[in-house]
Amino acid sequence: MRFEILTIFPDLLSSPLGEGILRKALEEGLIEVTFRNLRDFTFDRHNTTDDRPFGGGEGMVMKAEPLALAVEQVKQNAPSSKVILLSPQGETYNQVIARELSLETSLVLVCGRYEGVDERFRERFVDREISLGDYILTGGELGAMVLIDSITRLLPGVLGCSDSAEKDTFSNGLLKHPQYTRPRVFREMEVPEILLSGDHSRIGEFRFAESVKRTVERRAEMIREKKFSSDELKILKKYDLYEKVRTLQQGKARVQG
Ligand code: SAM
Repeated sequence: MRFEILTIFPDLLSSPLGEGILRKALEEGLIEVTFRNLRDFTFDRHNTTDDRPFGGGEGMVMKAEPLALAVEQVKQNAPSSKVILLSPQGETYNQVIARELSLETSLVLVCGRYEGVDERFRERFVDREISLGDYILTGGELGAMVLIDSITRLLPGVLGCSDSAEKDTFSNGLLKHPQYTRPRVFREMEVPEILLSGDHSRIGEFRFAESVKRTVERRAEMIREKKFSSDELKILKKYDLYEKVRTLQQGKARVQG
């Protein structure tokens, strides 16, 4: 997977790429990250990448030409690259989108600054606009880093334990169950007994029930969308969660009806 980041601050993201799983993925050639300084695609003495907005108003707008030239340069080598604009007006990023993007081979991540980018660049060159959430960042670089991080860990061979991404929160429509490690007693708080039993089938059921319980408490809307198998429904009954889940799911049916 190749990430091309278009930015006026190419040094901003070097440190997160120099540690942990991302560093390893880079070293092993599983990902390739290139920063393209938008100032290199300007022709004036001051390497200007922004200008005042037509019609007046506050702030500056990023000029379309340097952005367009940078995208065109990337596409010369990787014509099928998808161009993603980081924008608070885009679709809100989530694990489903991360999975979709992890199937691409080349992503161009366009980092806006100031008041954002000239609309004509967006219309002509952008395939997808992605927002990190309903708040305003000073620029798209941190958003680009979030995409690189979350997509990279989904790529084959990146995570040590091959199935750990499969069991993450959101992967199966639930929040992950709580986790515990040594010591067995921490400040008089004990690890749930069942986790010490060595009975993997019972532990699996317990963890599934904990995962559902946590999702009911924190993200009821996820439960409304979740489809449970008949075996899972049996576990929900055993752990007294069935009625709660059914009520939430019937609530959704009523609203839709
Ligand atoms: N004036 C713009 C508006 O009101 O929609 C906000 C511009 S913001 C200060 C500058 C840049 O930061 C944006 O062009 C975008 O690239 C990035 N940005 C800001 N908030 C973001 C968010 N929630 N998600 C993704 N990118 C964001």
